[in-house]
Amino acid sequence: MTPIPDVDVTAADILDGIRGDEFFYCYQPKTSFESGKLVGAEALMRWRRNGRLIPPGIFIPIAEATGLMPTLFEHMLPHFTADILSIRGTGVHIPISINVSTEDLKVSRPVDLLHELVTSKLIEGQDVQVEVTESIVLVDNPQIKKSVGRLVDSGIKLLMDDFGTGYSSIDVLSRFPFSYVKMDMGLISRMTGSLKNYRIVKGILHLTRDLNIKTVAEGVETNGAYQTLQMMGCTEAQGYFISPPLAVADFNAFLAETAPLPGTQIGTLFSLQAGLTSHRKSIVGTIMCHHGDSSTEPEPSAMEQEIEHDPKNCRFGKWYYGEGRAFQDHAAYHALEAPHRQMREAGLKIIEAAYSDDPDFGEVISMIRDLNDHGSKVDRLMSELIEGYLIDRNDRNISAAA
Ligand code: C2E
Ligand code: CA
Ligand code: CA
Repeated sequence: MTPIPDVDVTAADILDGIRGDEFFYCYQPKTSFESGKLVGAEALMRWRRNGRLIPPGIFIPIAEATGLMPTLFEHMLPHFTADILSIRGTGVHIPISINVSTEDLKVSRPVDLLHELVTSKLIEGQDVQVEVTESIVLVDNPQIKKSVGRLVDSGIKLLMDDFGTGYSSIDVLSRFPFSYVKMDMGLISRMTGSLKNYRIVKGILHLTRDLNIKTVAEGVETNGAYQTLQMMGCTEAQGYFISPPLAVADFNAFLAETAPLPGTQIGTLFSLQAGLTSHRKSIVGTIMCHHGDSSTEPEPSAMEQEIEHDPKNCRFGKWYYGEGRAFQDHAAYHALEAPHRQMREAGLKIIEAAYSDDPDFGEVISMIRDLNDHGSKVDRLMSELIEGYLIDRNDRNISAAA
């Protein structure tokens, strides 16, 4: 924890700082674990007052307590816009996230302004992400829900910040349309030294994968943490290992000068493989729940409705017909298509048979055998693809070293 300097800040000082234009943003890069490339950045506010830098940990809580957050937000939005355009001027087009406090969402003006910004010709919704904390649900306020809905309607992606620190984080995921979850840096820093924390991170990645939510790891400070998260299939990294937050000119220089970090698709391949196994488990689990409870009507459960049967629309399918095409040189890639489709078809047949008016469970069990046969084939081919990928990488490394 960075020691907080002993400064007394009042609401009048903040207003004075706004008048004197003393606030600015620094930008901290986010990189993709898969490609190693920079894929985004977070705007973090700074205050230079009388030659001293006052950290947001000091002035944000005071602005929040004194009702000044929306004023500060409004004052900063033109800075944010100018910075995005300056970053774009380097030829790099990445989404930039901005922290929006619960206080900002309780009134309509900040979101109205963001909405105006992304409907202007300058910037689009996909250029902006909004980071919020779970306190958005702890405060019972209808305006917050409205604000969040409006943001999402503008095409802005929502990120849940500080995941893993609060009490109701998981519940929040079901109530708001988050595209990203950012795992808190406390969790990330403890992960490498504690098996329990490692498993918690693994559990979060499993949960978000099932919910189709991407993950950002915050506070990645070491190569060890970077590599561990990469193997676990986390989506993006942010932290001092990559770069501290930088003033916009330095951020632009960073963009121009810094080579990508080592990327690997292994984490993605492993996580897809785990997702395919979990699909089979969901089918069998649903049947067990349904068959085991004879007191309920044979209606598809929430679990059943959630299972994706379309081989092109499931997570694997989207990857296979999208980025996965990069694996076209591998025989296993081509061999995967048919058994994967058959596995999804078998899953759908099982559900239909089990929920029919007069289910024959002997037949259902033989269908489960089919599902498992196709699933095992898919699993073996995924392992072959992973092996092939590792061999290719090794060959590339050897020829690069020669
Ligand atoms: P946050 O949104 O969770 O931001 C992450 C904080 O972690 C930032 O601190 C960042 O500088 C720091 N950090 C990043 N990488 C590392 C690392 O590898 N190790 C360590 N130890 N720290 C790292 P910062 O900039 O002091 O911001 C603190 C908090 O202030 C933010 O936490 C956010 O809640 C708030 N904040 C900052 N800017 C804004 C803003 O514009 N609006 C609002 N509403 N809140 C803001
Ligand atoms: Ca944040
Ligand atoms: Ca945090």
